[in-house]
Amino acid sequence: MGGSLFLTLGSSLALAAEATVLAAVLVAFHRTYRREYLRLWSWSWRAMAVGALAAAASLLLLGRLPASGPARLLLTAVSLTAAYWHALWLLLGTWEVSGRTPPRATLQRQALLALAGVAVVSTLLFAFDPAAGKARYLLRVGLKSLGVGVAFLAAGVWVIRTVREGSALGRRMVGWGFLAFGVQQLQYVAIGLLIVDAEVARRLAGAFALADLVIPLVFGIGMVAWLLEEEHDHVVKATRALEHLALHDSLTDLPNRTLLQDRLTQALGAGARAENATVVAIIDLDGFREVNDTYGSRYGDELLRKVAIRLAARTRPGDTLARLGGDEFCAVLTGVDADDAVVAVERLLAGLARPLPVFELELETRASVGVALHPAHGSTAAELLSNASRALAAAKADRQARIVVFDPLGDAARSERVRIELALPRALAAGELILRYQPIVRVVSGEVAAFEALVRWAHPTAGELLPGAFLPAVETSGLDLEVTEWVLRTAVTEFAWLHRDGFDQIELAVNLSARVFQHPAFAILAASVLAENGFDPAMLHLEITETAAMHDADAALGAFRELKRLGVRIALDDFGTGYSSLSYLRFFPVDILKIDQSFVKRLRYGSGDSAVVESIISLARTLRLGVTAEGVEREEQARWLAEHGCDFMQGHLISPALTLDQCRVFLRRPGATPRWRARSPAMGFPDTPVH
Ligand code: C2E
Ligand code: MG
Ligand code: MG
Repeated sequence: MGGSLFLTLGSSLALAAEATVLAAVLVAFHRTYRREYLRLWSWSWRAMAVGALAAAASLLLLGRLPASGPARLLLTAVSLTAAYWHALWLLLGTWEVSGRTPPRATLQRQALLALAGVAVVSTLLFAFDPAAGKARYLLRVGLKSLGVGVAFLAAGVWVIRTVREGSALGRRMVGWGFLAFGVQQLQYVAIGLLIVDAEVARRLAGAFALADLVIPLVFGIGMVAWLLEEEHDHVVKATRALEHLALHDSLTDLPNRTLLQDRLTQALGAGARAENATVVAIIDLDGFREVNDTYGSRYGDELLRKVAIRLAARTRPGDTLARLGGDEFCAVLTGVDADDAVVAVERLLAGLARPLPVFELELETRASVGVALHPAHGSTAAELLSNASRALAAAKADRQARIVVFDPLGDAARSERVRIELALPRALAAGELILRYQPIVRVVSGEVAAFEALVRWAHPTAGELLPGAFLPAVETSGLDLEVTEWVLRTAVTEFAWLHRDGFDQIELAVNLSARVFQHPAFAILAASVLAENGFDPAMLHLEITETAAMHDADAALGAFRELKRLGVRIALDDFGTGYSSLSYLRFFPVDILKIDQSFVKRLRYGSGDSAVVESIISLARTLRLGVTAEGVEREEQARWLAEHGCDFMQGHLISPALTLDQCRVFLRRPGATPRWRARSPAMGFPDTPVH
């Protein structure tokens, strides 16, 4: 065996080892980050390892077995297929990592098969003609090198062109590595064309052995660096996006309630010194629900955006327009003469006089407005907002009036809320509260991981009320601890039965209000409910909204620690809508982030709206937390979540909230429970041990 043959053999084996190590590294990263491109890249390195081994075996057999014998032909076909596949997977992964929609799996499979076909045909053509050494070399090595070389040159140029400023060492390494690899491949084509003797060509190729080893190593390491840089970018972007989200409404980008309160408080401070009044106007669209019900929420959302634009166009510098949620907006107008308050509000509403273009429709919109004035109707932001909302209730009730100014003496204060507050203790005693459970499933397998308990009020006359209709009154009436105790005890008791029936791997999530989870009696109560039922604390999740947790983060931290001592898990609910500073999140002993439905609703491939969800998933990965998407309604959203490594999901696509009996039926559906009786990994980050 000649020296160059030894060199080529050694380099093939070294390349196989190098490719195996890179594949293993990428597989490990894929386990953690679950990005599709990591999977594609790891396959490309596996293919390279197989190709290099086949090439090495082929060299060993050189001269021992006939070149046209089945063993050597097979090895050639394998090594050619592997080289083509290596290139295809590498390019697919690079395509994916740049944020483009990956080609469908069937298309990928077809491309792989087609390339395998090319490899087999170029192995067999001229295989049995001893005089066709050069043609054979050109067809096998030349064709492959030409295809792969051109593809890599193009990909290299493209990757380098996409390098942005800042930390992009990984991208640069991959880009230049691809270019060098492309040039290297074209060299093989040139050798094939210029050198007459196939044996000489092979020797020359041997001389490039070192470059063959070094170049893949450069872009292999570049890929790892690229991933780490992407993750770092994601976390930075997530932090910025969360900071913005904390103070803005994600649909209209107007300030949200938190920022509004802040601005209002500032305006009041300034207004105290001024002669004029500060006007707080809460604007509620009439008939918005009908738009949503008739045309769907896409139209509803667009209508809200258009309303926001029209109203914002009529505010003056120094005024604030905010969205309070749903179809409620709030304007704070400063420096208005108290007698002109209604005129000022009318001027704002004139923005809605013309019909609003909502996609192909032109929608007429009317609004009801409740107004409170500073200083006449309150001295603090909270007082003014609450009085404006009482005035709004009066405006809504009276079909004639569009704008109602708060009347301290009127009976606008006798609101719906008061009626509910009065009826609640009776409802609790009469057993009118009921529970429904909504399944939370693993995105990848569809297995049920948990159910979330959701409370309803089976009202004797009004029918089944959703929590939004009565929970705010529960909180103001001080009955919240009692209601939570009832919810927790009922849910834990019912799930203890479910566990005894064999579904002992199913976890249970219970929602807590801000006041309850910080209440000193709650931890004791939870401990006793768990003990009474012999319920494993690790199977209970307590859901606390991000807003509630961050409202007083220091107090929340203490409460979380207290609850964690019981061994339960903690989920941050409606994540993305509150103010989470990364520094607090790091300290909070939380296990799961639940991405708020409003973000999930707008998930789409390649859409800017998806960036928030992607950021939250990255954040969860970095902090090693589990992540659940709420409100999944469409297949496309589920597919997106699977491809972006979201762990769990819940929503109407899977199931609405169910009665306990319906839960049993749901759990018996094929695929709903793990195939093995052993407990599947608990919710939370896959690698975190049960607390
Ligand atoms: P949450 O904890 O974020 O619960 C998810 C809500 O989204 C539930 O509404 C659920 O029915 C709804 N949902 C689930 N999937 C979909 C979907 O695909 N599309 C849409 N549009 N909605 C979906 P629900 O039952 O009205 O509960 C509203 C909120 O009330 C809950 O939000 C939770 O914060 C609170 N809540 C419910 N039960 C309790 C309770 O027992 N205690 C406390 N403190 N709060 C509760
Ligand atoms: Mg919840
Ligand atoms: Mg939620």
